Formats: sequence, C-alpha cells, structure tokens
Amino acid sequence: MIVEMRTGATQDEVNAVVERATSLGMDTQLNIGTDKTVVAILGSDTGLLPTDTFAVLPGVESVTRIMKPYKLASREFKPSDSVVSINGIQIGGKRIVVMAGPCAVENEEQLMEAARAVKESGASILRGGAFKPRTSPFSFQGLEEAGLQLLAQARERFGIPVVTEVVDPNEVSLVAESADILQVGSRNMQNFALLTNIGKSKRPVVLKRGFSCTITEWLTAADYLLAEGNDRVILCERGIRTFEDSIRFSLDISAIPVLKKSSHLPVIVDPSHAAGHYSLVPSLAKAAVAAGADGLLIEVHPNPKEALVDGLQSLNLSNFTRLMEELRQIAASIGRYI
Ligand code: PEP
Ligand code: MN
Repeated sequence: MIVEMRTGATQDEVNAVVERATSLGMDTQLNIGTDKTVVAILGSDTGLLPTDTFAVLPGVESVTRIMKPYKLASREFKPSDSVVSINGIQIGGKRIVVMAGPCAVENEEQLMEAARAVKESGASILRGGAFKPRTSPFSFQGLEEAGLQLLAQARERFGIPVVTEVVDPNEVSLVAESADILQVGSRNMQNFALLTNIGKSKRPVVLKRGFSCTITEWLTAADYLLAEGNDRVILCERGIRTFEDSIRFSLDISAIPVLKKSSHLPVIVDPSHAAGHYSLVPSLAKAAVAAGADGLLIEVHPNPKEALVDGLQSLNLSNFTRLMEELRQIAASIGRYI
C-alpha cells in the first residue's frame, strides 16, 4: 500500500503514518522526494487493511494499493528515475555507462591489458569474474580470491571502478572489499539469501535477469535488495530462453521500455551473453542503446581465441573500440552521451 503525503506535510505527520503501520505489525519504507514524501506500507497482511486506516491521518493526500507483487521497485512508490552513483559515475542519467572486460579474470597480464584498453576506449567500469557460476562443475570456476586481488590491483592502477559477481551469500563482504559493484548472475536472481545479504551490504548491485524469469519476477527479486535499504540497484537484461536456438539467448529488447514504465531503477543490457557470438554483439548493443538502456555490460578479451571462458562471444580490443565509436553516435542522436 502506498501512502502519498501532501506537499508540505510535517515530519510529525509522516511519523504518525509510520507509527500506525508499525503498530499494526507492518514495515515501512520512505521515499523522500523533493516536494513530497511517499510511505510504502509493507507486509503480507496489507491486502486486508482498509485504505482508510491511513487516509484519515492528517497530512495524507492519497492511499493506493499496489496490485503488482513488487512494491519498492515500482514507479508507484518512486515516480522519478533512480540514479545510482559510483565514484562520481551516474548510472540512470543522461550518460550511457559502459562496463567492459573479460568474462573471467585469468591472470595479471590479461586483466591489466583488458583494463587499460577498455578504459582508453571510453568504458567507465571494468568487469571481470573471479567466482564463475558455471553450468558444469568441470568448467573453469574462476580464480576466486586471487581473481579479486587482481581486480583490486586493476582498480588501483587504472582508477576504474570494478563490477564482479558474488555467488555465495556468505562471501558478500569478501567480494565487496575488491568490488565497487556486486553482480548477481542470471542463475542466482532468485537466490533470496544472497539478495538479502547484498541488500544489507548497501553496495551498488547489478541484478541480472534470470534467463527463465518474467519481468515481474525480476522486479520482485529487486524488492529483496530494496527492502534491506539498499537503493543502489541496477537491472541488467541479458537474454532469456526461448525456442530460438540460432543465438545463445533471446535478448528481450522490449524489457527496456517495459521496465522504464513500471520501475524507477536504471536498466543496463548485456549483449554478450545473449548473443553467444562476437559477431552479433555490436547489433544488440546498438539496439539496446537506441531502445533507452542506461548502460551496457560487454565482454572484451585481449585475445578471445585463448579465453578460458566465453571467448566466442568476447570482442577483441579493436572491435570494442569500433563499437564504442558507433555507440557514441547513437547516444548523441537520442540526446545522450557515453
Ligand atoms: C557473467 O556476466 O559473467 C555471467 C555469468 O552472466 P549471466 O549470469 O548473465 O549468465
Ligand atoms: Mn561470460
């Protein structure tokens, strides 16, 4: 249930709404906007409460039920776009933020070369997996802690923030030591223990879409992060499973405008895992920017032929540089920049 306060409602009036909710065993979250405050009343029994419970209180303008399963991620709760700020880089504003780097951190030389090159070409965040959630237990699982240390070194050396995946709910603080942004992988989108711990960490987070999950399920998963008071959530579309088998996953471009309508959270797109092949990545990346994505997450490897993971879908350095030039033109044509 959403309680919208009148413009100029006093702090005491807001507190009275919160106290009434608390006395009824409900939780609350506040969205303090520039001219009004919105209070979300949360709990499994809110559906049973009459809206008058809050409508009668002084300073309340309106009370509406959110019929969708997700609440805090919804536009009803927060009408204005959320902008996530990472070391001065804003995700969700006019700038299109490109995160690029190898699928997996493999060794120092590979990571440093990738970091230097993606930064030079205009990427503002370095990606690299240290813990890899592989479909098969026999595939390379990542360098783990040694990989985190290399990411921390690259961050230091090139002054570029780092995004990396965390797979274990008990390793959130370990990964957060080396990462500016935590990534929740597609296979873990509904790992609620992981989401809760990342929510508590208050670290910026890229929440990838589960490849068999609906947009509603995805936004409801985002609520797990938001419910812990972590409002720095970035959604990442990375392709979904359909009957089409000529590509690895079908990139759901329509998710971008749908999310922009139903949620205030920034949306980025990973064309690499959808494409599965480097030759398809530029088209998907350009389509995503044209469709309104706030950023991209792209796999780039100095030598894709030798990559331990996802070499086929990784762009080499010159292809990445060329793509960035094309993306700049598309961004400019829609009033944005990279
Ligand atoms: C990744 O970004 O390295 C990755 C494993 O992606 P996804 O979780 O989308 O498969
Ligand atoms: Mn990958």
